[in-house]
Amino acid sequence: MRDFAYHRAATLDEARQHAAAPGTALLAGGTSLLDLAKCRVAQPERVADLTRLPGLEEIRAEEGGLHLGALVRMARAARHPALRAACPAAAEALALSASAQIRNMATLGGNLLQKTRCAYYRDPANFAACNRRSPGSGCAAHGGATHNHALLGGSAACIATYPGDFAVALAAFDAVVETGTRWMPVADFFLLPGDTPQREFALEPGEVITALCIPDSAAARRSTYLKLRDRASYEFASISVAAGLALGADGRIADLRLALGGVATIPWRLRAVEAALIGEIPTPALLREASALAMRGAAPREDNRHKLALAPRLVHRAIEQLLQGEAA
Ligand code: SF4
Repeated sequence: MRDFAYHRAATLDEARQHAAAPGTALLAGGTSLLDLAKCRVAQPERVADLTRLPGLEEIRAEEGGLHLGALVRMARAARHPALRAACPAAAEALALSASAQIRNMATLGGNLLQKTRCAYYRDPANFAACNRRSPGSGCAAHGGATHNHALLGGSAACIATYPGDFAVALAAFDAVVETGTRWMPVADFFLLPGDTPQREFALEPGEVITALCIPDSAAARRSTYLKLRDRASYEFASISVAAGLALGADGRIADLRLALGGVATIPWRLRAVEAALIGEIPTPALLREASALAMRGAAPREDNRHKLALAPRLVHRAIEQLLQGEAA
């Protein structure tokens, strides 16, 4: 690991000044930064420590939604009664992420900004070609092993999967990212790779995430997060789904929110499945038909083709589970 200068930001303005300086890495929980430094993907000239910034560790109900400070630790958020009541899917997504040790250290803001697990991205010593790490160098994953690469949202430049869980729940429930100067819907926060995969988030230089807000909704209050992975714990999603549902008094689906993780370059909202079911009586045949839309537009590769069948099944299971909960 190369030497770097260390600064502790005492105020948000100081943090923004550091964030605007090229070659600066921001330190919150540090779990992701240390990981990337060890594999020599992150080699910052300066590290700006945000951990002592005041006022970013609050969880509070506000008019219209739940406010989560960017420095709240994942483990604390996962067990917090306010989050568990407002959006069980988000709490479950956090609880199913990483290991207990990492959840105790990692922050919500940092979790959103985590980097892909693409093995080529994380191995610069052996794979020079990675447009995300070195723009214009190519993509070693095209033609390589793609077991966990994206089927949705990829481009000729990059097919790396977004690895997080929490952001999948945020995408499903139209959460908002706050920077203290502006508010961005999560749908606008994550950027498709296109020709510029090195630009993953819509943050401008000098912008720092200060909080996240999950708008109040009946679907968020009745929600769940299901995660399939290659081993039972401490593993990233092979496929995950955040789902929330509200039934009308007439038995029709009044609201439905769905997003997939593990299959796309960004948290992937399932608008087509939602549109096929909202306003309808959820019969078994309609559920099957609508769930099949989950992977519409997918571009599978030999190693990840199995997800074409698995993802609709997981979506179907999540909706059924929520319907059974409504009936109980
Ligand atoms: Fe790099 Fe993206 Fe290709 Fe992986 S998929 S090697 S992150 S450009």
